[in-house]
Amino acid sequence: MTHDFQNRIILITGASRGIGRAVALAAAKAGADLIITGRTIGALEELDDEIKLAGGKATIVELDMHDYAAIPRLAAAINGRWGKLDGFVANAATLNPLTPLSHLDDSIWNDTIAVNLTAQWHLIKAMEPLLLAASAGRAVLVSSGAAEGIRPFWGPYAISKAGLEAMARVWAGETEKTNLRINILNPGGTATGMRALAFPGENPDTLPQPADVAPAFLTLLDPACIDHGQRFDARDMLNL
Ligand code: NAP
Repeated sequence: MTHDFQNRIILITGASRGIGRAVALAAAKAGADLIITGRTIGALEELDDEIKLAGGKATIVELDMHDYAAIPRLAAAINGRWGKLDGFVANAATLNPLTPLSHLDDSIWNDTIAVNLTAQWHLIKAMEPLLLAASAGRAVLVSSGAAEGIRPFWGPYAISKAGLEAMARVWAGETEKTNLRINILNPGGTATGMRALAFPGENPDTLPQPADVAPAFLTLLDPACIDHGQRFDARDMLNL
Protein backbone atom coordinates (compact mmCIF):
# COMPACT_ATOMS: atom_id res chain seq x y z
CA MET A 1 0.00 0.00 0.00
CA THR A 2 1.34 3.47 -0.83
CA HIS A 3 0.88 6.45 1.47
CA ASP A 4 0.88 10.17 0.79
CA PHE A 5 2.17 11.89 3.91
CA GLN A 6 2.88 15.28 2.28
CA ASN A 7 2.31 18.11 4.81
CA ARG A 8 1.98 15.62 7.66
CA ILE A 9 4.10 16.33 10.75
CA ILE A 10 5.01 13.10 12.52
CA LEU A 11 6.80 12.72 15.86
CA ILE A 12 8.72 9.45 16.37
CA THR A 13 10.37 8.81 19.73
CA GLY A 14 13.38 6.50 19.85
CA ALA A 15 14.25 7.06 16.20
CA SER A 16 18.02 6.73 16.63
CA ARG A 17 18.04 2.99 15.91
CA GLY A 18 15.98 -0.13 15.49
CA ILE A 19 12.30 0.03 14.63
CA GLY A 20 11.88 3.78 15.25
CA ARG A 21 14.65 4.55 12.77
CA ALA A 22 13.09 2.35 10.07
CA VAL A 23 9.64 3.86 10.62
CA ALA A 24 11.13 7.36 10.34
CA LEU A 25 12.81 6.55 7.03
CA ALA A 26 9.67 4.95 5.62
CA ALA A 27 7.48 7.90 6.73
CA ALA A 28 9.98 10.40 5.28
CA LYS A 29 9.95 8.54 1.95
CA ALA A 30 6.14 8.84 1.99
CA GLY A 31 6.55 12.63 2.27
CA ALA A 32 6.17 13.26 6.03
CA ASP A 33 7.98 16.08 7.83
CA LEU A 34 9.51 14.30 10.81
CA ILE A 35 10.43 15.11 14.37
CA ILE A 36 12.89 12.43 15.50
CA THR A 37 13.93 12.00 19.13
CA GLY A 38 16.44 10.01 21.15
CA ARG A 39 19.51 10.47 23.32
CA THR A 40 22.12 9.54 20.70
CA ILE A 41 22.49 12.69 18.64
CA GLY A 42 25.15 11.24 16.29
CA ALA A 43 22.77 8.45 15.27
CA LEU A 44 19.91 10.93 14.75
CA GLU A 45 22.23 13.07 12.57
CA GLU A 46 23.07 10.02 10.45
CA LEU A 47 19.36 9.31 10.08
CA ASP A 48 18.75 12.95 9.16
CA ASP A 49 21.37 12.62 6.39
CA GLU A 50 19.61 9.51 5.04
CA ILE A 51 16.24 11.24 5.19
CA LYS A 52 17.64 14.22 3.24
CA LEU A 53 19.14 11.86 0.65
CA ALA A 54 15.67 10.32 0.26
CA GLY A 55 14.25 13.80 -0.34
CA GLY A 56 12.64 14.11 3.10
CA LYS A 57 12.80 16.53 6.03
CA ALA A 58 13.48 15.93 9.71
CA THR A 59 13.99 17.92 12.89
CA ILE A 60 16.29 16.33 15.46
CA VAL A 61 15.31 16.61 19.13
CA GLU A 62 17.58 15.35 21.89
CA LEU A 63 15.10 13.89 24.35
CA ASP A 64 15.83 11.61 27.28
CA MET A 65 12.53 10.00 28.28
CA HIS A 66 13.37 10.62 31.94
CA ASP A 67 13.27 14.36 31.31
CA TYR A 68 9.54 14.86 31.72
CA ALA A 69 9.86 18.66 31.82
CA ALA A 70 11.27 18.60 28.27
CA ILE A 71 8.08 17.03 26.90
CA PRO A 72 5.73 20.06 27.27
CA ARG A 73 8.63 22.21 25.99
CA LEU A 74 8.75 20.03 22.87
CA ALA A 75 4.97 20.34 22.48
CA ALA A 76 5.24 24.13 22.78
CA ALA A 77 7.95 24.17 20.10
CA ILE A 78 5.83 22.02 17.76
CA ASN A 79 2.86 24.30 18.40
CA GLY A 80 4.93 27.41 17.65
CA ARG A 81 6.30 26.01 14.39
CA TRP A 82 3.44 23.96 12.98
CA GLY A 83 0.42 24.45 15.26
CA LYS A 84 -0.50 20.77 14.90
CA LEU A 85 0.81 17.22 14.99
CA ASP A 86 -0.50 14.72 12.42
CA GLY A 87 1.20 11.62 13.72
CA PHE A 88 2.76 10.39 16.96
CA VAL A 89 4.68 7.13 17.28
CA ALA A 90 5.33 6.27 20.95
CA ASN A 91 8.21 3.95 20.18
CA ALA A 92 11.11 4.67 22.58
CA ALA A 93 11.38 2.01 25.26
CA THR A 94 13.91 0.14 27.31
CA LEU A 95 14.08 -3.58 28.08
CA ASN A 96 16.80 -3.81 30.73
CA PRO A 97 18.24 -7.18 31.74
CA LEU A 98 15.68 -9.95 32.33
CA THR A 99 15.54 -10.76 36.07
CA PRO A 100 13.11 -12.47 38.48
CA LEU A 101 10.89 -9.92 40.25
CA SER A 102 12.34 -10.85 43.64
CA HIS A 103 15.91 -10.13 42.46
CA LEU A 104 15.16 -6.84 40.69
CA ASP A 105 17.12 -3.79 41.67
CA ASP A 106 15.00 -0.68 42.41
CA SER A 107 16.89 1.24 39.73
CA ILE A 108 15.85 -1.24 36.98
CA TRP A 109 12.21 -1.17 38.06
CA ASN A 110 12.20 2.64 38.22
CA ASP A 111 14.01 3.12 34.90
CA THR A 112 11.74 0.75 32.97
CA ILE A 113 8.49 2.15 34.35
CA ALA A 114 9.74 5.74 33.93
CA VAL A 115 10.64 5.32 30.26
CA ASN A 116 8.04 2.80 29.05
CA LEU A 117 5.03 4.04 30.97
CA THR A 118 5.25 7.36 32.82
CA ALA A 119 6.99 9.19 29.97
CA GLN A 120 4.32 7.90 27.58
CA TRP A 121 1.61 9.49 29.73
CA HIS A 122 3.52 12.80 29.72
CA LEU A 123 3.72 12.57 25.93
CA ILE A 124 0.01 11.85 25.59
CA LYS A 125 -0.82 14.79 27.86
CA ALA A 126 1.43 17.20 25.98
CA MET A 127 0.71 16.04 22.42
CA GLU A 128 -3.06 15.52 22.57
CA PRO A 129 -4.00 19.18 21.86
CA LEU A 130 -1.64 19.20 18.85
CA LEU A 131 -3.03 15.91 17.53
CA LEU A 132 -6.56 17.28 17.92
CA ALA A 133 -5.52 20.43 16.04
CA ALA A 134 -4.67 18.24 13.00
CA SER A 135 -7.48 17.22 10.67
CA ALA A 136 -6.65 13.51 11.02
CA GLY A 137 -4.27 12.97 13.97
CA ARG A 138 -3.00 9.40 14.30
CA ALA A 139 -1.18 7.86 17.28
CA VAL A 140 0.59 4.51 17.39
CA LEU A 141 1.61 3.23 20.82
CA VAL A 142 4.25 0.52 20.47
CA SER A 143 3.64 -2.50 22.65
CA SER A 144 4.99 -6.03 22.78
CA GLY A 145 3.91 -9.64 22.97
CA ALA A 146 5.24 -9.44 26.53
CA ALA A 147 2.19 -7.36 27.49
CA GLU A 148 0.15 -10.57 27.36
CA GLY A 149 0.40 -14.07 28.79
CA ILE A 150 2.81 -15.31 31.46
CA ARG A 151 6.29 -13.79 31.10
CA PRO A 152 8.64 -14.88 33.85
CA PHE A 153 11.76 -12.61 34.15
CA TRP A 154 10.25 -9.94 31.87
CA GLY A 155 8.75 -8.19 34.95
CA PRO A 156 8.95 -4.40 34.57
CA TYR A 157 9.03 -4.51 30.76
CA ALA A 158 5.96 -6.79 30.54
CA ILE A 159 4.18 -4.76 33.23
CA SER A 160 5.01 -1.43 31.55
CA LYS A 161 3.73 -2.63 28.17
CA ALA A 162 0.52 -4.03 29.71
CA GLY A 163 0.09 -0.63 31.39
CA LEU A 164 0.75 1.15 28.10
CA GLU A 165 -1.97 -0.90 26.43
CA ALA A 166 -4.42 -0.04 29.22
CA MET A 167 -3.45 3.64 28.84
CA ALA A 168 -4.02 3.47 25.08
CA ARG A 169 -7.53 2.09 25.61
CA VAL A 170 -8.34 4.79 28.20
CA TRP A 171 -7.06 7.47 25.82
CA ALA A 172 -8.97 6.01 22.88
CA GLY A 173 -12.18 5.96 24.94
CA GLU A 174 -11.69 9.62 25.86
CA THR A 175 -11.16 10.67 22.24
CA GLU A 176 -13.73 8.52 20.51
CA LYS A 177 -15.77 11.48 19.27
CA THR A 178 -12.76 13.34 17.83
CA ASN A 179 -10.80 13.05 14.58
CA LEU A 180 -7.92 11.45 16.47
CA ARG A 181 -7.39 7.69 15.95
CA ILE A 182 -5.21 5.85 18.46
CA ASN A 183 -4.02 2.26 18.15
CA ILE A 184 -1.59 -0.18 19.76
CA LEU A 185 0.95 -1.97 17.59
CA ASN A 186 3.01 -5.01 18.53
CA PRO A 187 5.88 -5.16 16.02
CA GLY A 188 6.68 -8.76 17.04
CA GLY A 189 10.22 -10.14 17.30
CA THR A 190 12.37 -7.89 15.09
CA ALA A 191 16.15 -7.84 14.58
CA THR A 192 17.21 -4.92 16.79
CA GLY A 193 19.53 -4.28 19.73
CA MET A 194 16.64 -4.76 22.14
CA ARG A 195 15.80 -8.17 20.70
CA ALA A 196 19.47 -9.22 20.88
CA LEU A 197 19.54 -8.28 24.56
CA ALA A 198 16.56 -10.56 25.24
CA PHE A 199 17.72 -13.43 23.00
CA PRO A 200 21.52 -13.20 22.70
CA GLY A 201 21.90 -16.62 21.03
CA GLU A 202 19.39 -15.93 18.26
CA ASN A 203 20.49 -15.43 14.66
CA PRO A 204 19.06 -11.99 13.71
CA ASP A 205 18.92 -13.06 10.05
CA THR A 206 16.04 -15.39 10.97
CA LEU A 207 13.89 -12.43 12.09
CA PRO A 208 12.03 -9.67 10.25
CA GLN A 209 14.22 -6.56 9.94
CA PRO A 210 13.00 -3.16 11.20
CA ALA A 211 12.26 -2.07 7.60
CA ASP A 212 10.02 -5.15 7.20
CA VAL A 213 7.68 -4.06 10.04
CA ALA A 214 7.69 -0.31 9.22
CA PRO A 215 4.77 -0.56 6.72
CA ALA A 216 2.43 -1.60 9.56
CA PHE A 217 3.18 1.72 11.27
CA LEU A 218 2.47 3.66 8.09
CA THR A 219 -0.92 1.96 7.76
CA LEU A 220 -1.89 3.12 11.26
CA LEU A 221 -0.49 6.64 10.66
CA ASP A 222 -2.45 7.11 7.46
CA PRO A 223 -5.52 9.40 7.56
CA ALA A 224 -7.33 6.46 5.91
CA CYS A 225 -6.95 4.44 9.13
CA ILE A 226 -10.28 4.52 10.94
CA ASP A 227 -9.52 1.88 13.59
CA HIS A 228 -9.49 3.24 17.12
CA GLY A 229 -8.41 1.70 20.43
CA GLN A 230 -7.42 -1.54 18.68
CA ARG A 231 -4.36 -3.74 19.14
CA PHE A 232 -2.55 -4.88 16.01
CA ASP A 233 0.27 -7.33 15.36
CA ALA A 234 2.62 -6.31 12.53
CA ARG A 235 3.10 -9.98 11.61
CA ASP A 236 -0.64 -10.41 11.00
CA MET A 237 -1.00 -7.09 9.16
CA LEU A 238 1.92 -7.83 6.83
CA ASN A 239 1.85 -11.66 6.68
CA LEU A 240 5.46 -11.77 7.94
P1 NAP B 1 16.05 -0.47 20.29
O1 NAP B 1 16.73 -0.89 19.06
O2 NAP B 1 16.67 -0.78 21.61
O3 NAP B 1 15.76 1.10 20.17
C1 NAP B 1 15.16 1.76 21.25
C2 NAP B 1 15.02 3.24 20.91
O4 NAP B 1 14.47 3.87 22.08
C3 NAP B 1 16.35 3.89 20.60
O5 NAP B 1 16.18 4.82 19.55
C4 NAP B 1 16.68 4.60 21.89
O6 NAP B 1 17.37 5.81 21.60
C5 NAP B 1 15.32 4.94 22.48
N1 NAP B 1 15.39 5.02 23.94
C6 NAP B 1 15.61 4.03 24.82
N2 NAP B 1 15.70 4.53 26.07
C7 NAP B 1 15.51 5.86 25.96
C8 NAP B 1 15.49 6.95 26.88
N3 NAP B 1 15.71 6.77 28.19
N4 NAP B 1 15.28 8.19 26.41
C9 NAP B 1 15.08 8.41 25.09
N5 NAP B 1 15.08 7.44 24.16
C10 NAP B 1 15.32 6.18 24.60
O7 NAP B 1 14.57 -1.08 20.38
P2 NAP B 1 13.56 -1.61 19.25
O8 NAP B 1 13.65 -3.07 19.24
O9 NAP B 1 13.72 -0.82 18.01
O10 NAP B 1 12.17 -1.26 19.96
C11 NAP B 1 11.29 -0.26 19.49
C12 NAP B 1 9.93 -0.50 20.12
O11 NAP B 1 9.44 -1.77 19.72
C13 NAP B 1 9.96 -0.51 21.64
O12 NAP B 1 8.79 0.09 22.15
C14 NAP B 1 9.95 -2.00 21.97
O13 NAP B 1 9.43 -2.25 23.25
C15 NAP B 1 9.06 -2.52 20.87
N6 NAP B 1 9.22 -3.95 20.55
C16 NAP B 1 10.35 -4.41 19.97
C17 NAP B 1 10.45 -5.76 19.65
C18 NAP B 1 11.67 -6.34 19.00
O14 NAP B 1 11.74 -7.56 18.81
N7 NAP B 1 12.66 -5.55 18.61
C19 NAP B 1 9.37 -6.62 19.91
C20 NAP B 1 8.23 -6.12 20.51
C21 NAP B 1 8.16 -4.76 20.81
P3 NAP B 1 18.67 6.35 22.39
O15 NAP B 1 19.40 5.17 22.96
O16 NAP B 1 19.40 7.12 21.35
O17 NAP B 1 18.08 7.24 23.44
